[in-house]
Amino acid sequence: MSAEILVVETTRELYTKHFSIHELRCGCNNCKKKKPHKIKRSALLALEKARIESGVVMPLSSAYRCTEHPEEARKQNPGQHNAGVAFDIRIRHSKERSKALFYLMNNGFWAVGSAMNFFHVDLRGSFAGWSYS
Ligand SMILES: [Zn+2]
Ligand SMILES: [Zn+2]
Repeated sequence: MSAEILVVETTRELYTKHFSIHELRCGCNNCKKKKPHKIKRSALLALEKARIESGVVMPLSSAYRCTEHPEEARKQNPGQHNAGVAFDIRIRHSKERSKALFYLMNNGFWAVGSAMNFFHVDLRGSFAGWSYS
């Protein structure tokens, strides 16, 4: 009689009340939102806190990115999205954007990149600011 080894795979993917697993997954052609994301617990908690405290709806255009995501693949080293500590948030309305940013920065998102249709925040632990042209 041979002993069988049972391997149980659990994904234990994180999500919150306001941010679904689907929204947090990588959307590249390789993953297509079907592979588990690797968002850090601390980053998701900080995001959820900022969402609740601000009361501002924060639709994500990008969260976790695998190394094959075109935006990560063209970098020398994978960035903050691959590290699971970055979010791109689609808020166009300027007042809502400022309000969201205030609470995001208050929760540790000190790096902010601005574009017309979205802004990027991450939890790198130092201040940084830029705009996308
Ligand atoms: Zn991917
Ligand atoms: Zn980003």
